[in-house]
Amino acid sequence: MDKIEKRIAELRKRINQYNKEYYIDNTPSISDYDYDQLMYELQELESQSPSLFSSDSPSQRVGSDLDNSENNNFKQIAHRYPMLSLSNTYSIEELKDFANKIAKNTDTIINYSCELKFDGTAICLTYRNGLLVQALTRGDGSKGDDVLENIKKIKNIPLKLKGQNYPEEFEIRGEIYMPFKSFDKVNKDRMDNEEKPFANPRNAASGSIKLLDPKEVAKRGLECTLYHILGENLNFNSHSQALEAAISWGLPVSEHRKLCKNIDEVYKYILSWDTKRHELGFPTDGVVIKVDELATQKSLGFTSKFPKWAVAYKFQAERQLTEVLSIDYQVGRTGAVTPVANLDPVQLSGTKVKRATLNNYDQILAMDIRIGDYVYIEKGGEIIPKIVGVELSKRPIFTKTVEFPKFCPDCGTELIRGENEAKFFCPNTDSCPTQQKGLLEHFIARKAMNIQAGEATIKQLYDKAFVRDVADFYSLNKDMLLQLDSWKEKSADNLLKSIEASKNNSFNKVLFALGIRNVGEVTAKALVKYFKNIDKIASASKEDLEKVEDIGATIAESIYNFMHREDKLTIIDRLKKAGLNFEDNSNEGLISEVLASKSIVITGNFSISRNDMKALIESHGGKNSSSLSKNTAYLIVGEKAGPEKLKKAEKLDVTMLNEEEFMSLLNNL
Ligand code: NAD
Repeated sequence: MDKIEKRIAELRKRINQYNKEYYIDNTPSISDYDYDQLMYELQELESQSPSLFSSDSPSQRVGSDLDNSENNNFKQIAHRYPMLSLSNTYSIEELKDFANKIAKNTDTIINYSCELKFDGTAICLTYRNGLLVQALTRGDGSKGDDVLENIKKIKNIPLKLKGQNYPEEFEIRGEIYMPFKSFDKVNKDRMDNEEKPFANPRNAASGSIKLLDPKEVAKRGLECTLYHILGENLNFNSHSQALEAAISWGLPVSEHRKLCKNIDEVYKYILSWDTKRHELGFPTDGVVIKVDELATQKSLGFTSKFPKWAVAYKFQAERQLTEVLSIDYQVGRTGAVTPVANLDPVQLSGTKVKRATLNNYDQILAMDIRIGDYVYIEKGGEIIPKIVGVELSKRPIFTKTVEFPKFCPDCGTELIRGENEAKFFCPNTDSCPTQQKGLLEHFIARKAMNIQAGEATIKQLYDKAFVRDVADFYSLNKDMLLQLDSWKEKSADNLLKSIEASKNNSFNKVLFALGIRNVGEVTAKALVKYFKNIDKIASASKEDLEKVEDIGATIAESIYNFMHREDKLTIIDRLKKAGLNFEDNSNEGLISEVLASKSIVITGNFSISRNDMKALIESHGGKNSSSLSKNTAYLIVGEKAGPEKLKKAEKLDVTMLNEEEFMSLLNNL
């Protein structure tokens, strides 16, 4: 394989991976700009080596949002007309090339419809006889996921059109996006629930329309803008005329459009929005320029990936140049040490930025960022600003390469770094103050003991040495709490009440709250179900622990180690004395044991919520599992069941029951 062939193979592999992260997982790991540069490089190399052409290359296909794993819960439906992407550029020169190429291929006058490029996720709606009857995601361009029930929950999408002058049937495409206000709220709720916040509104929007419960979609504050009508015999001459008609039928079309006569007017439109767009309440990442005349559009046609009559001009994420004043090293709850640059404060995309994460030491070295350097920072759609480059021409004379600290800035323990780890860690999990506070915060979290206190309270309790381990919460009294800064009777009473209430939590929650390494909620539940009480868990051998479903050698080892430490056993003892639950009383809540130890998978939507369905299964002794195997007793099939799950169940010969059959099974067994 020669050098170019190798590079093409590498780029295709990397871009496919980034596509999966972006379109399916909604957790991109590189910026759009960097992604686009890789795509341009691939396109360039492929055009130099036509013999290496492949219709499978990501340069030839739209990035697919279809999840073909067994987790897919949506029906896939073929698009009537392919749903493609847009070619894009960051350069005005290339925009001129685009206009020149079109002028060469046509002899009619060309107008350009300029629109904002909404940064969300594409949707294709079908209206029949004035009613919304179908909503598909872009999918892989030729088929998409049917998300109609979710789309119906978006308030500005009409279920029924206005007037009577609409075609009998047509498609209209557009973008589902999340306004900044909704984005802030969704992320706040996620963080309150200890879920990872979305990186940006685009990911939040595309994640939200794939939720399984339409009621949850309704809470996400999504909006829609529509920008392209398709159908047979529509009788429009131009794109702008079609959009005007859509408005008259009550469909949401953006008002920020402009019909431009030439590329200079297009340029003015772009310039005006480059800064003004920051005042909008929703995310945009560029401008879309479309040939307005439909006959010209038709004659220009498409490539396998783009229409030839449109292009997206993308805005560079806003950048600022500022000085690195110092670097702090922050120890996280898990002991990971992250370098953070303190910057000369600067205004960026509407907020003042004082700090930027440097991620890890390799990144500092790769970019050779030094204290005193002037660096470019960007926010793009992301929450935390990052350094994207160093302005070497402004580097002061006496600067030194940054050396990573050898010892934990918090407790002084020597830092370690695993073989393939990007981060340095403080191994002093038990007495490093940040990690100790991390354990306390984990203990009180909503999904654990649900004690009503926050990070600031934990810090005060810790600093005053009132709470140093989790059992100390149960020795707090009012006098102590009134010594905390600005604490009054009422806040003290509330905290004490919530600590008292936490004693009613189930053993599952208590076990999870202890913060045993690698023991999350699901493992805690499985342990409780298997062993029933703490004494049995504490005296279990590693082999016994591995008998519990989904517990392998690593988890067994960490549970075993935890249960063989004197200090941890003392804490458990103190918690027992305080009245916490260390036994499984859940059988008391069992309605029946008809599903005892049966593994059950559900797919699709039911007349009750999916969570209620899972609770129902558990209340009859069944075990919920997310994946099918030979040991699955039943697959309960709801509406919009995942086709992959159905296929797999058939292959594994798993009994499939619809909701009605399942309910009668519960009643008759
Ligand atoms: P795109 O987002 O660049 O452009 C096409 C899309 O623009 C259309 O599908 C439509 O959804 C949207 N759009 C918004 N407003 C529009 C309007 N007024 N008219 C027409 N369309 C409008 O293309 P894409 O194929 O969805 O995504 C490719 C881009 O996504 C890449 O260029 C890159 O920036 C980004 N991406 C990033 C990563 C990453 O890892 N960071 C990975 C994959 C893709």
